[in-house]
Amino acid sequence: MQGALRKLLAGGFVASIFSLTMAVQAMTMNSLSPTQYNDIKQSALDKPQLDYDDIAPLLLQHQQNPLFQFTQLGQSALGTPIWQIDIGHGPVKILAWSQMHGNESTATAALMDLLNFIAAEPQKNWRDNWLSKVSIRLIPMVNPDGAAAGSRFNSMGIDINRDAKALQSPEGRILMQAAKDFKPDFGLNLHDQNRFYAVGDTNKQATISLLAPAFNEEKDIDEARKKAMQLIGDMRDLLQAELPGYLAKYNDTFSWRSFGDTFAGMGISTVLIESGGHPRDDNRQVARKLNAQLLVMSVESIGSGAYQQQPLSAYQAIPFNRDGGIKDVLIRNLGISVNGNKANIDLAVELDTGSDQGRVRDIGDLSVFGAYHQYDASGLQYQAPKAYALSKALTLDNAAYIALLRQGYSHFSGDAKLLVNSSDFPVVINPKGLSTATPQRHRLATFLLRNEKGVQLALLNGQLLDLNRAALLYPFGS
Ligand SMILES: [Zn+2]
Repeated sequence: MQGALRKLLAGGFVASIFSLTMAVQAMTMNSLSPTQYNDIKQSALDKPQLDYDDIAPLLLQHQQNPLFQFTQLGQSALGTPIWQIDIGHGPVKILAWSQMHGNESTATAALMDLLNFIAAEPQKNWRDNWLSKVSIRLIPMVNPDGAAAGSRFNSMGIDINRDAKALQSPEGRILMQAAKDFKPDFGLNLHDQNRFYAVGDTNKQATISLLAPAFNEEKDIDEARKKAMQLIGDMRDLLQAELPGYLAKYNDTFSWRSFGDTFAGMGISTVLIESGGHPRDDNRQVARKLNAQLLVMSVESIGSGAYQQQPLSAYQAIPFNRDGGIKDVLIRNLGISVNGNKANIDLAVELDTGSDQGRVRDIGDLSVFGAYHQYDASGLQYQAPKAYALSKALTLDNAAYIALLRQGYSHFSGDAKLLVNSSDFPVVINPKGLSTATPQRHRLATFLLRNEKGVQLALLNGQLLDLNRAALLYPFGS
């Protein structure tokens, strides 16, 4: 008995070691770990917007590498080259393209990271294994003119991603021709989405959104779309391990003019990857890293066929995107009073880093929304903005500025040249469109917050200054 028991235990022990090994293998199926990512991450791309000048020297450098075969596909309407990079010689073909919307450059940085990963010395085994199983074609920055202008559109004003049928833009024609020549099995369509998307009913940002685009109004699932959904199942597993809760599914309404939907109709298993916002991550470096990991994992999953193990229920379980579910700033429970009617409201502020302006976007019960920055104003009352009229030269240091704010002045009027701001805080001078007795939608987010002891905080163009701590609660746009 004892011998048999020992045998049984030993057997159980072996079995658990075995299943542990399997689990570790499953978890490490993504070969690009966060630590490893830091080694291959391309420097100098941590910026809000990339244009062709940012990637041109990197492309030139990789062009020397025999692993990468470069071909100039043509040029944008304004004459900037559009390149394709072919990697590997396997039978299964993957086409990935980025930045067809010029102001969506997150994945372009991830493609540069991917090139670094593949070229890196420690990846010899990876290359030997996967580059005989797949052929990869990358087209980074399909819309360099839009990138240079920081615009979604090309230089002719055309949205390239609504030009898949009309093909009036040279950039759209180049992308379509590349797909027709290459005949990929899989297409990875790399975009950015605005920072206000939430994951389903949660108040978390959709840092990544995925979609297997439909090829008809009925959203039918053919063999190609099924494979795309299954690959997304593997992507979901990776994202649940790396950043649980921040994955959503993009709107799946059929978009006849778009490239993803058109490629899906051409039998290409197409996956849309949208990079979104994340707290304290203005330049979307979180989404960029996840893109790089998704790209490496996709090569492995497609090369091995591992995605075929995924049930469609994994794809279907991803919650949809909720546009506007996230606000820049939410001030909760702020007291207001109108004609003797007291109320506690939530107030949402939208920040525009371009114009350095913050505006009131919404008022009321905003408990269903998440935010990049939140402040609980319980016990505080709205106090209307009031101008300090500049009549002579005034130099503000932190103490002098806070003293004026405590006296109830929120901004300055008059000759702006009279004011020298040497404080650490923003000043608002001659603002147009302030709220009055109560906060109003679309007005500038400049007012004071007070309790019975006096003014405690100032909202200055959307930035919240705590007078007692003499500190901004968050820097602009962070
Ligand atoms: Zn886009």
